Amino acid sequence: MRGRGHPAVVAYHRGTDEEEPPVGRMEIRIFGDPVLRQRAHEVTDFDGRLATLAEDMLETMRAADGAGLAANQVGVLKRLFTWEVALEAEDGARSTRGGAVVNPQLLDVSEELQDGDEGCLSFPGLFYPLERPLRVEVAYQDLVGDDHRVELDGYFARIWLHEMDHLNGILFVDHLAAHDRKAALKQMREYRLAAGLDDPEPPRPGGLLLGRHRR
Ligand SMILES: [Zn+2]
Repeated sequence: MRGRGHPAVVAYHRGTDEEEPPVGRMEIRIFGDPVLRQRAHEVTDFDGRLATLAEDMLETMRAADGAGLAANQVGVLKRLFTWEVALEAEDGARSTRGGAVVNPQLLDVSEELQDGDEGCLSFPGLFYPLERPLRVEVAYQDLVGDDHRVELDGYFARIWLHEMDHLNGILFVDHLAAHDRKAALKQMREYRLAAGLDDPEPPRPGGLLLGRHRR
């Protein structure tokens, strides 16, 4: 996903390491690609290939200046996403928080909501306001299969909800208010035509009614 930033989050760019070759960068699938509508499968093999895939996804996500990337978005139907957020402490110290998340399971969401604009690497250039739960609790595995449980709030919760949606074939436009969704789909139709891609997915019957559902 792409965010417009958050009070606690600084969207600084790591220096471009021109000497470093862009190893492992993958093609990010654009809205209209059917793989974005498919449910990804549970990961059962926690092997070197999984670790390499996660590394390549992190690299791809950073190169695209994204905060999150689901495996579907690079054409791989595994329940895996990567995420990373740059932080700046009050004393100016910079750090990042993120990594790879495997087989995430949403345990709880808060009733309290947050406002914010949201974008997606599969929808280049688009940002729309989208209400999300303020807090989430998630169980997941890491790249070696160890179990974890985490509570996240604010921007972190938004990223994880966005990426977990991807693994179920759900896209952020599905949650938008009807008029925003319509505008977003129109923009994507124009984007695909300009890029010489096929027509994006046609509006689905009842699709606009998905507007406010939360997951
Ligand atoms: Zn996305």
